[in-house]
Amino acid sequence: MDFSEQLIKHQQFFNRNCTRDITWRKQQLQQIKNLVIENEQAFLDALASDLGKPAQEAWITEVSYVTGDVDHVCKSLNNWAKKRRVATPIVAQPGRSYIQPEPQGTVLIIGAWNYPMQLILAPLVAVIAAGNCAIVKPSELAPATSELLAKLIPQYLDSQAISVVEGAVEETSALLSLPFDHIMYTGNGQVARIVMTAAAKNLTPVTLELGGKSPVYVDKSADITITAQRIAWGKWMNAGQTCIAPDYILTSADMVAPLVEALKKQIENMFGKNPKESKSYGRIVNTRHTQRISQYIADIAVEVGGDVDLEDKYIAPTIVINPPLDSALMTDEIFGAILPIITIDSFDDVKRFVKERDKPLSSYIFSKNKEQCQSWVNEISSGSQCINDVIMFNAVPELPFGGIGPSGMGQYSGKAGFDNFSHLKSVLTRPFVKDLPVRFAPYSKMKFKFLRWIR
Ligand code: NAD
Repeated sequence: MDFSEQLIKHQQFFNRNCTRDITWRKQQLQQIKNLVIENEQAFLDALASDLGKPAQEAWITEVSYVTGDVDHVCKSLNNWAKKRRVATPIVAQPGRSYIQPEPQGTVLIIGAWNYPMQLILAPLVAVIAAGNCAIVKPSELAPATSELLAKLIPQYLDSQAISVVEGAVEETSALLSLPFDHIMYTGNGQVARIVMTAAAKNLTPVTLELGGKSPVYVDKSADITITAQRIAWGKWMNAGQTCIAPDYILTSADMVAPLVEALKKQIENMFGKNPKESKSYGRIVNTRHTQRISQYIADIAVEVGGDVDLEDKYIAPTIVINPPLDSALMTDEIFGAILPIITIDSFDDVKRFVKERDKPLSSYIFSKNKEQCQSWVNEISSGSQCINDVIMFNAVPELPFGGIGPSGMGQYSGKAGFDNFSHLKSVLTRPFVKDLPVRFAPYSKMKFKFLRWIR
């Protein structure tokens, strides 16, 4: 299996400077929008087939996410791509200095299955905006979406610059052996290590969009109904398979009963008495992951939910109170419909709990206490944060998306994505004017003194 000819074709096209043209980039971006709009129903069907995604949920988190991203990027692209002037110090005068964003070359985009359309097309928007070519590799665990992307991308986008490889480990490994100019990988940390090791062989820079256990702290002062509604939405959207979903809740012991009651009410409001029959509740991607998630509660008492149907890939919205901290439920990223609640009484202990663990992709606090919220922002390190909400920062196109430490490296969305896939080239331009002799040998005491003075 060898994809080197495919890469060479893109490299040759890139070297003809075609992708540096902003008009070409905007045409391709517009074509991504056309691809999505003209095939909206096909995408909704594919996402329903891969993950049982309700159409409204798929539309908001995948379809309109991508089209909105294209609009936002196209509006600002001219500005982002402009040279960025910086001051020139005396030693380099007369002269003018600027940063010129330039494309990197050909980028490999490897997607994950949980938002299988968005996790290919949104990075592709940033990659094309920055003037690069790309090979995209959708996740084989969402086969209907992968097949649809493989069919449509060649129809809509310039195939000299952008192409698709479908497949699993074998195909991805073959791609990873090639000298791409940048690799963007979305998925779990274990495979990220394989990706980074392969990239190191060619000194290829990587963007890693990973996951982790995103904590939520709920303070006594929080509005319990609004808090429960927002957490329930974020946790059980896509049946819990969202990288920035709340993984677990930290709260004081006296908050557990009212919080569980409020969450139960929200589950019923959103998915009815039997979520299995709800058209608004999705399914786990496959039997293996359904089994993995159900194992977390095999020996643990469940407070709410707990129903599992392996054949239907169904796991009910489930709440567990104070599971052992060394159980897999509390050490692995859950990435499924189970919500543990851990009781910790003091806010300092809550912060300590979070700091002692891997830096998460996101962290959330619900509180009316402004000082507490500010100290959460000041002290808790995570890819992103929301105060009094979950996930919604992702609806703000100019907020960069990406993790820190084990939750990832590099960022995209808006200008952050443009910069991430650009090389910010430093340029100094000088006229043919005689230079001060101080710069040149032979060195002397006088020149040294003068040099110190002008610095
Ligand atoms: P996955 O199984 O779809 O794998 C991701 C990609 O890696 C696929 O394209 C797959 O073909 C490839 N792959 C798998 N094994 C490989 C190997 N041995 N060598 C080379 N390539 C290989 O997805 P996943 O890893 O199950 O994704 C879930 C994880 O991704 C969770 O941790 C989640 O939090 C994270 N995630 C992060 C983001 C983000 O934007 N930060 C978004 C979605 C998911």
